[in-house]
Amino acid sequence: MRKGLHTPIRAALLIAVITSAVVGGGFPLIFQSEWKGALLLYLAVVLLTFFVSFLAAYFIVGFLLAKRVAPLFRMLYGRNIGANEILEQLDGEAVYERLERDISAWSSEKTREIDRLKEMERYRKEFLGNVSHELKTPIFNIQGYVLSLLDGALEDPAVNRKYLERTEKSIDRLIGIVEDLEAISKLEAGELKLNLTSFNIVSLIRDSIDALDERARKRSISLRLVNQPVQPVMVYADRKRMSEVLLNLLLNSINYGIDGGQTLISVSEEGNRVVVSINDNGIGIDSKDLPRIFERFYRVDKSRSREQGGTGLGLAIVKHIIEAHGQKIKVSSTPNEGTTFSFTIRLSES
Ligand code: ADP
Repeated sequence: MRKGLHTPIRAALLIAVITSAVVGGGFPLIFQSEWKGALLLYLAVVLLTFFVSFLAAYFIVGFLLAKRVAPLFRMLYGRNIGANEILEQLDGEAVYERLERDISAWSSEKTREIDRLKEMERYRKEFLGNVSHELKTPIFNIQGYVLSLLDGALEDPAVNRKYLERTEKSIDRLIGIVEDLEAISKLEAGELKLNLTSFNIVSLIRDSIDALDERARKRSISLRLVNQPVQPVMVYADRKRMSEVLLNLLLNSINYGIDGGQTLISVSEEGNRVVVSINDNGIGIDSKDLPRIFERFYRVDKSRSREQGGTGLGLAIVKHIIEAHGQKIKVSSTPNEGTTFSFTIRLSES
């Protein structure tokens, strides 16, 4: 669109010139008149026609144009704009360039939005597929044991207790999946309300080690805090969520560790942050899987993960929690040597 091509003034000028030419052309007879004032009258009529038609055309064209453009303004700037304001804008020099630029920016933004919605839709379908797949296994297991019990195993003391225990294990697994799903959907919906307080991260690490002591001992894995700081290291974060992060990472170091292995936890201060590292000498993660392990339901070794009661959601939850605190988590790993997860927490100012 070229500058000002269709402004009401130009259109009105054109209409006024045509109207006065038509009116002027209709008066040739006036020259044959003997009356002296005829020429003056002729000029006055033509000029009057010009001004009247210019004014009428200016307002009519302006009004029609403003009516046409109003939805565009509404769409682009999201507000109702009066015809007068539009008329003022239309008389401005660069209004068409501005409209053209804004329309093209608007259309690229809408295209991006549609792409994002398509991506979300794909993600949603994949998520539903993953959820039903995860739920199916324990549900079918429970169904199998219950049917066997009903078919007679209930009266067989050799298996009835075992089947019931396995049923309970599958129910625990179902509860674990549902709890993780609940957590992830809250986190992804941005509904996580952080309860930020100052606390000593070292004592939280010690509590987490104690909570997993039995699990670690079963595989003869030692969980140790290496550089035990003498002073408390006060951080400012949500204690409960940070405990979830630590438990998840420590549990993974056991689940994907080796019998008789070790997990070393260290705490160091970097500027106004604390870096917590959890290093194991377990099975490690291949470099091709490493970028994907924070995705929900992503597992390197599916059977091992399920065997350990994993849902494939743990690291996705951990990452969400750390990012909700405005902090970062990193991972480095070498297959058959071990894995290190490091994350940051804000140091408390007091
Ligand atoms: P899961 O419930 O399967 O443990 P996570 O989200 O916690 O799910 O972890 C995703 C995957 O990353 C795991 O299935 C496992 O393959 C891999 N992984 C996580 N932590 C470790 C670790 N410390 N050592 C080796 N592999 C790990």
